Amino acid sequence: MFNYVPIKHCKNCGTAVVYRVPDDGDIKQRAVCPACGTIHYENPLNVVGTIPVLGDKVLLCKRNIEPRWGKWTLPAGFMELGETTAEGAARETDEEAGAQYEIGELFAVMNVVRVGQVHLFYRARLLSDIFAPGHETIEARLFTEEEIPWDEIAFRTVREALVRFFEDRRRGSFGVHSVDIQ
Ligand SMILES: [Zn+2]
Repeated sequence: MFNYVPIKHCKNCGTAVVYRVPDDGDIKQRAVCPACGTIHYENPLNVVGTIPVLGDKVLLCKRNIEPRWGKWTLPAGFMELGETTAEGAARETDEEAGAQYEIGELFAVMNVVRVGQVHLFYRARLLSDIFAPGHETIEARLFTEEEIPWDEIAFRTVREALVRFFEDRRRGSFGVHSVDIQ
C-alpha cells in the first residue's frame, strides 16, 4: 500500500550501506555494509485483506491515515510475522472495521511488482451490519455495486478486486484470481 523504501543503514552495525552486486555469484544489487559485510536481502511484502459481504452489499472503510486519507478501501494491511495470510486478513478486518464475520475462500492474488508487494484478498461473510472501526478508519459502510464510490477508491488492487468480485457474483460462481498490476 506504500511505496518501496530502500535500506539506508546496516541492520547489524548501523553503517550506511552501499548498493552493489555481492561477490558470491549473486546477480542482483543488494544493500551491502562496507563495515561488517552484512548483505541485506529485500523481498516482496504481503498485504492481506478481505472482501466483507452482507447480502448484496460490500463493506468499505474510509481511511483515516495516509496515504490516501479520506479514500475508501477494503480492510487490508501488511501481514505480520507469526500469522497466516488468512489470520492477517482477519486481523485487518477486526482493526479497520470492527466487523463480525466469517472468513471465506481466497479470492485474489495480485502482484504489484513496481512496489515489491503481493496483495491477497479473502472473501468474508458479515454476520452483522454493526461496525466498530478502529483509529485507522473514519467510517465503515456497506455499499451495493451501484453505490460503490469508484472514483474515491484508495488503491488499484482494491478496485481490481471489487471489479472481479462483482463480475463473479453476476456469474454466480467465485474463482481465485491471479492478477498482475502494471
Ligand atoms: Zn554493518
